[in-house]
Amino acid sequence: MKSKGLSLVSGGLDSQLAVRVLQRAGAEVEGVTFATPFFSSDAAKKAAAALGIKLHVIDFTDDEIALIENPPHGFGGAMNPCIDCHATMIRRAGELMTRLGYDFVATGEVMGQRPMSQNKQSLGVVEKSSGLKGRLVRPLSAKLLEPTIPELEGRLDREALLDISGRSRERQIKLAAEFGITDYPSPAGGCKLTEDGFGRKLKDLLDHEGLRNRRLVELLLIARRFRLPDGSGVILGRDMNDNAVLKGEGANGTIVAPVNCPGPTALIPVVKSEGDLNLAAELVCAYSKCDRLEGDIVLRVGESTLSVPRPYNRDKFKAFQIC
Ligand code: SF4
Repeated sequence: MKSKGLSLVSGGLDSQLAVRVLQRAGAEVEGVTFATPFFSSDAAKKAAAALGIKLHVIDFTDDEIALIENPPHGFGGAMNPCIDCHATMIRRAGELMTRLGYDFVATGEVMGQRPMSQNKQSLGVVEKSSGLKGRLVRPLSAKLLEPTIPELEGRLDREALLDISGRSRERQIKLAAEFGITDYPSPAGGCKLTEDGFGRKLKDLLDHEGLRNRRLVELLLIARRFRLPDGSGVILGRDMNDNAVLKGEGANGTIVAPVNCPGPTALIPVVKSEGDLNLAAELVCAYSKCDRLEGDIVLRVGESTLSVPRPYNRDKFKAFQIC
């Protein structure tokens, strides 16, 4: 009887190859991918469509937020809890595997490709902490690892699995040509959580408003951030698109925007003091285009209007800028 597996699909080449190698080894394969505000599932959807397999998309936001709040194995270079994130994804895929009555979970990991996270020891740690002992297949490096349960049962042909290791991409490129896989992104560094600037914004939100308000987490993807002296956070639009999004967020805080000249919209989720609110008004003026305006900038501040006297000085706010 054919074995059935769920293969993690990111959209990258290795995850696509893993599916094809498993199919060649006699397995029936469906894909699983994850979505959060920190990475999208679009590339995975495109790859699954090209591979002709069903894709299960799991909302991973609550898991990721819990790991950012408390990463058992710590962070990578920025706010990326990669070891725990990866193990939790595999655990979630394992839960789906059990629910669907499937035999194994697979990944496109290649031994030694990333010296820290994909050596034999760390692959073992991920297998152990995901709770999938014996049911986690790495088809691209399987022959270098212990046989898994479906292989031992003879339901997945170990001989058709591979022994790729190391950082060279040569064998993967050849295999892609063999399988006719032509559309894949170049290997990327990671999700938004691996970016320094994004990490600073996220850490600031974690330390002040916290990460439980999903909308505030989603808003991390846009706009500039400032943290004012009494602790009020300001989300300041960078362009018309940001401004339109922030204007729609009135229910989530106080909106500050110019009325008599072009300029950015600011959202203050929680106003901590009148001093901060006045500073936020000055900040919006400092980023407004008022060269042709005679007189002062008039702002909408929540339900009121406020006239802010010149001068408006951007440099004053450098010390408060997070990103
Ligand atoms: S790069 Fe992002 S999605 Fe990938 S394992 Fe790290 S934290 Fe998770």
